[in-house]
Amino acid sequence: MARWGAEMIILRGIGVSPGSAVGPVVWHERAAGAGSGGSGEAKQFEQARAQVARRLSEISARLRRKGAGEGAAIIDAQRQMVNDPEVAQLVAARMREEHTTVAQAVHEAFAAQVAKIRGLPDPVLAARAQDVEDVASRLLRALSGVMEEGPALTSPSVILAEDLTPSETAQLDRRVVLGFATLRGGPDSHTAILARSLKIPAVTGVDPILRKVQAGTTVLMDGSTGLVVVEVDAETIREHARRQRVKRSRQSREPASAPEPQEASLQPTFTRDGRRVAVAANISSLEDVPPALAAGAEGVGLVRTEFLFSRRVTPPGEEEQYEFYSSVARRFAPHRIVVRTLDAGGDKPVPGAARPREANPALGLRGIRLSLAEPGSFRVQLRAICRASAEENIAVMFPMVSAVTEMEQAMAILRQVQEEFRASRVPLNAEMPVGIMVETPAAALLVDKLAPLCGFLSLGSNDLAQYTMAADRANPSIAGLLRPVSKAVLRLVKMTIDQGHASGLRVSMCGEAAGDPALAPILLGLGLDEFSVEPGAIGAIKEAISQTSMVQARRAAREACE
Ligand code: PEP
Ligand code: MG
Repeated sequence: MARWGAEMIILRGIGVSPGSAVGPVVWHERAAGAGSGGSGEAKQFEQARAQVARRLSEISARLRRKGAGEGAAIIDAQRQMVNDPEVAQLVAARMREEHTTVAQAVHEAFAAQVAKIRGLPDPVLAARAQDVEDVASRLLRALSGVMEEGPALTSPSVILAEDLTPSETAQLDRRVVLGFATLRGGPDSHTAILARSLKIPAVTGVDPILRKVQAGTTVLMDGSTGLVVVEVDAETIREHARRQRVKRSRQSREPASAPEPQEASLQPTFTRDGRRVAVAANISSLEDVPPALAAGAEGVGLVRTEFLFSRRVTPPGEEEQYEFYSSVARRFAPHRIVVRTLDAGGDKPVPGAARPREANPALGLRGIRLSLAEPGSFRVQLRAICRASAEENIAVMFPMVSAVTEMEQAMAILRQVQEEFRASRVPLNAEMPVGIMVETPAAALLVDKLAPLCGFLSLGSNDLAQYTMAADRANPSIAGLLRPVSKAVLRLVKMTIDQGHASGLRVSMCGEAAGDPALAPILLGLGLDEFSVEPGAIGAIKEAISQTSMVQARRAAREACE
């Protein structure tokens, strides 16, 4: 904590969703659901389940309408948890064997699950306990008939909370919620992802002194710097209002004949001095397709296939994968979609992938390493991608490459699969572009050797920053090393783009940094050809690109790297 001026108190946290706000504080308290006992409990549980599932469907549909597909996928996963027959069996078994009430059974069944997940050594996985708790608390509230789900705000306010669950965040009303600050949570939590996709400024992991801030106190919070200023003085409020006015007027300074924003977003994007830059979407499921298309995505720079695998017990078969890839390709044609092979392991668990426990999963068998170690399922995925490549606008890329031999081995398996199909005359695109994610420092340093084996490169800034800075992307206490992107990472980005161009390749970026409008000039100046971002960020990135000239951009890049 630092004091600034006569009274202002500055608290530090982690900025997880950009934007700033000034306003009175409202504390968010969660209503506890005690549940009830008595007869007919199995029926009560079924009713509560149906009610919660319905509510989560509504929330996810609303998020999709707002273009927050990534957020909607999080809520969908919660809904699947509610509908999971195993959950019902667990609760029923507790009621039967331990003669508990339905509420106790729900509480105990979920608490056991939460404790198990929270005990996982990987902090990103452990943080997913929050989703299970969120579902449990919704079920308990439904059982006790408590329906209110968040602070009922009557005027614009800044929400403070010990923690916000993903589904609570999903329901915040942007018209009255200026931003939020919480004591717990990190930049990669589902709550942070939801705040970003809803464009609500947010700071998490704030200094515990935050607890002393009284409701009604005026605070200034900044989701980019991670600062929360308490008892903010009149001069600071005036300066903040002035900056907001400048920002708004810049946003509205459009020529009178400008097309509707919707139409404008569907136009190709050019810098102020006419350099064409592609803006594509990152998607995880078919539900992300409509918001990405509506925002004017020029194809998909990253299809994260993990979601296809992670919401179920058994992996999807070739046919199911084929249907998914070809259907996404058809929806975006003639633009290209880049399917990333399974990036399981590390922060992305995939049920059923039995692996020995690893002391350092982030440095373990993940991405292409796991695929090469388990070539059976890798081949199934490649067969599905190759068959879908008959659509002609499909490319494939491998995650977590850190050695030339990995790329050679992966290519050998891919060529084998293509050869088998050719021999049996199955239609496919023999020229399907193959690329890699440059997301380990090793890949960036070896890019001159890897580029000749590739058809394109895609920078994974999330992992590239994590591994370059030796800073766990999920650990809030060192988040400052990762955001803003450091010179060290930018230099590797520059090496990759320069070498990629020297080898005649297009270079894209699909990590979170590509979706940050403040970084767009730097990335443009470094020569990035394509920004691939979550659908909700497409508009802001297109705008940032069109407001920048390459002269400004090159200067910004030089300054950022030197
Ligand atoms: C990245 O690492 O930047 C990336 C896009 O991949 P993921 O976030 O899925 O690891
Ligand atoms: Mg990655």
